[in-house]
Amino acid sequence: MSMSYIRAAQARGAVVRPYTDVQDVVMEGEKVVGVLIDTGQIACSTVIDACGVWAALLSERVGFALPMAPVRSHYWITEPSTSYGGEHPVTILPDVAAYTRPEVGGLVLGLQEPCSATFNARDLPNDPAAFSPTQGEEHWDILANAYEGLAQFFPAIETAQFSSYISGLSSYTPDGAIILGPVPGVTGFHAAAGACGSGITLSGGMGDVIADLVLQQEPAFDISRFKSDRFGQVDPFSEPFRKRCAMVRASKSRNIS
Ligand SMILES: Cc1cc2nc3c(=O)[nH]c(=O)nc-3n(C[C@H](O)[C@H](O)[C@H](O)COP(=O)(O)OP(=O)(O)OC[C@H]3O[C@@H](n4cnc5c(N)ncnc54)[C@H](O)[C@@H]3O)c2cc1C
Repeated sequence: MSMSYIRAAQARGAVVRPYTDVQDVVMEGEKVVGVLIDTGQIACSTVIDACGVWAALLSERVGFALPMAPVRSHYWITEPSTSYGGEHPVTILPDVAAYTRPEVGGLVLGLQEPCSATFNARDLPNDPAAFSPTQGEEHWDILANAYEGLAQFFPAIETAQFSSYISGLSSYTPDGAIILGPVPGVTGFHAAAGACGSGITLSGGMGDVIADLVLQQEPAFDISRFKSDRFGQVDPFSEPFRKRCAMVRASKSRNIS
């Protein structure tokens, strides 16, 4: 999906610079005038902060740390099985904070823990491959803790052959809604962040809104509830704030209506 977006942007003249860190945002007064990368400065009047779990670190460079925190998401995948197959529906199990969906011939089982692990964005390495949010914990224990509840809705768990475990980080906000639009007090700096574990699903809509904003057009829908300053002044790196974000992940399945 990301490659499709990249190819579409390139077809319209975008220049893509992979593996290039934006080290700083250059300002003149309250206005964005460029970004700093390892080879020097690139002049620009607009910066879109879509830095995923690192987004608050970039926005901090313009004096506003976005209200979001990195929270662990994870799932297990079974061996391919004719019991599930590609036609198995996606299920949301709010009573046990879980979901399932078919994948590679088996079944994905995702769990939202009572309080998901959360991390300080300042402590994350630049390379996500160098970091596991489940280090020091046994993921089978996490699955075993949820086992009894899951078995009520998913009796086949008794015989399911779980063969893979995937974990990673997603940015969560305290109300489970994204952060989308201009950052207050800074001309030319926009955020497209805090996707709360749904960034793939939401990417098209978020990109559409950002394109409208950059072109100074009215977005197709009301984005007022996604304002970056809606929580007032917060410290997104503090433990109490991160815990608020982690609790939102914990109740994600329960909040789907
Ligand atoms: C286990 C798991 C399962 C998930 N399942 C789903 C799902 O089923 N459906 C769904 O919709 N979502 C799902 N998600 C969430 C989804 O992956 C994220 O919401 C989405 O990837 C966020 O996209 P993003 O572009 O905001 O951030 P990212 O994909 O993290 O991209 C941000 C990019 O910015 C780069 N970057 C950071 N800082 C800088 C800088 N200073 N300069 C330059 N570049 C920088 C990073 O290197 C990275 O490439 C899942 C997440 C996990 C962990």
